[in-house]
Amino acid sequence: MQGSSVIVVGAGVAGLCCALELSERGLRVEVVERATTLGPASCSWMAGGMLAPWCERATTEPEVVAWGAPSIAWWAERFAGTVRRGSLVVTPPRDLPELSRFASRTERYEWLDADRIAELEPDLAGRFRRALYFPDEAHLEPRRALAALADALAARGVPIRLGVELVPEQADADLVVDCRGLTARDALPDLRGVRGEMLVVRSRDVRLSRPVRLLHPRFPLYIVPRADGVCMIGATMIESEQRGPVTVRSAVDLLNAAFALHSGFGEAEIVELGADLRPAFPDNLPHVRREGRIIRANGLYRHGFLLAPWLARQVADSVLGAHIDSETVDTETGDADLPQRRRA
Ligand SMILES: Cc1cc2nc3c(=O)[nH]c(=O)nc-3n(C[C@H](O)[C@H](O)[C@H](O)COP(=O)(O)OP(=O)(O)OC[C@H]3O[C@@H](n4cnc5c(N)ncnc54)[C@H](O)[C@@H]3O)c2cc1C
Repeated sequence: MQGSSVIVVGAGVAGLCCALELSERGLRVEVVERATTLGPASCSWMAGGMLAPWCERATTEPEVVAWGAPSIAWWAERFAGTVRRGSLVVTPPRDLPELSRFASRTERYEWLDADRIAELEPDLAGRFRRALYFPDEAHLEPRRALAALADALAARGVPIRLGVELVPEQADADLVVDCRGLTARDALPDLRGVRGEMLVVRSRDVRLSRPVRLLHPRFPLYIVPRADGVCMIGATMIESEQRGPVTVRSAVDLLNAAFALHSGFGEAEIVELGADLRPAFPDNLPHVRREGRIIRANGLYRHGFLLAPWLARQVADSVLGAHIDSETVDTETGDADLPQRRRA
């Protein structure tokens, strides 16, 4: 397969990670993206950028830890902006049993008392009695990370052709990797969109060094710090494919969470409100499916940055393990669904 040409369709986090992994493994790669600028048209633009497999384990499948934990090193090797300071989970004193329940569903955490919370996050001093600290987790700024991937591809001579909309079946290449996110639903009928809303604020009064989660009855709420007092507050999880701006109800929920974490957020400026649809399969896990020369890599759900490196490795293995031969192709659908086969 070395020397073969591969076209990656879509330059979200899935497409860029796949292209980089394939190029690093010696393949001749090209990326096409229908938008004329890299990022804003993709779901990846809205992400919080938490690399938090152990926190996610509390509400997801074990695969998210197994596949996501190695991504932290993958990003750290390729993006200098990867911050490895862990993450915190807090809850108001009345909901402390919720924190124990969260802990019981995961691993790799330490219990912190109020003094240790203050040491790690001075601006949270005196606000929470207990917290869970996940020291091995990390975070990154997704928009900078996408730009860094694009730079790494450029340095390797991998072209990214912007403003090119391609139907994967019509691509002129030996192999095509379909990373069109939710647009790939024409070929992946079981893909659905899960609405997520977020907002970005700038605060002069509250500084955080690591993502902080606040347990919430309806969706996992978190605040991810970025540079210069900017924080991303996310994210709603709504089983709806409705596009369109953030609703008042969601904005109120997200802002209340920030305010509950620290009343100093009351004076913060709202910089951005944004919403998009996460591409998800019925099991909320990513899958790689191959149909002849087309490899579809999709379903990153709410784990785009966390699981894209894993997805990229599966794609590269599929390409280099070459021709998925007939016995590995599902005889009913013609698909090779790699994760399920690996688990089987
Ligand atoms: C509010 C919110 C918060 C989130 N927070 C996190 C988080 O903290 N951590 C995390 O890991 N994940 C998070 N996610 C999830 C993550 O953003 C998604 O899983 C991920 O972005 C999906 O990436 P993708 O590359 O598959 O799709 P996309 O990012 O949508 O990329 C698909 C690309 O394909 C292009 N395209 C489509 N059709 C064509 C075509 N025919 N030809 C050429 N190009 C085409 C599109 O323009 C787009 O650029 C969050 C998502 C949301 C909405």
